[in-house]
Amino acid sequence: MSRSLARHRARHDPHRGGRDDGPIFVIQQHDASTLHYDFRLEVEGVLKSWAVPKGPSTDPRDKRLAIPTADHPLAYADFEGVIPAGQYGAGSVLIWDRGHYRNLQESEDAPSIAEQLADGHATIWLEGHKLRGGYALIHTRLEKGKDWLLVKIDDAAADARRNPVSTEPASVVSGRTLAQVAAEEED
Ligand code: MN
Repeated sequence: MSRSLARHRARHDPHRGGRDDGPIFVIQQHDASTLHYDFRLEVEGVLKSWAVPKGPSTDPRDKRLAIPTADHPLAYADFEGVIPAGQYGAGSVLIWDRGHYRNLQESEDAPSIAEQLADGHATIWLEGHKLRGGYALIHTRLEKGKDWLLVKIDDAAADARRNPVSTEPASVVSGRTLAQVAAEEED
């Protein structure tokens, strides 16, 4: 499938709403060599991706390390299951949250998300099932320029008392936990 066709289908997936809802984001819990959360944003036809070891927070005081990983095709936003042993990323994957996002910079001459990421500081508004509100992705330029931080913006949707990574572990698509995904797809 061509990238543009994949994009067209993704935009018309009834589970994701119509194309007017904007680009998608997905957060996949992934039990590979270490457990982490893959945070992915649709940008220019691919899923820009970061591995977030502790997962996202709803508390603006938390700065969550986000390590850039390879771009993934848009269709990967639908993947939940088990990556077989021996393959890259072997282990179970669960769709922990998914929805649309928008650029928080809304003026007509505002930089696109691709431009903001190239500049090392992007601000987005997430409309997911578990996560909602503003988030910033900030390039730290510390560890040899590799690492980013994912931080909740202090807005009306911020909530220091929530901890959805702990309290809302199930898939937003199937309702399964990661252990159930692993067990059900073992046979
Ligand atoms: Mn991963």
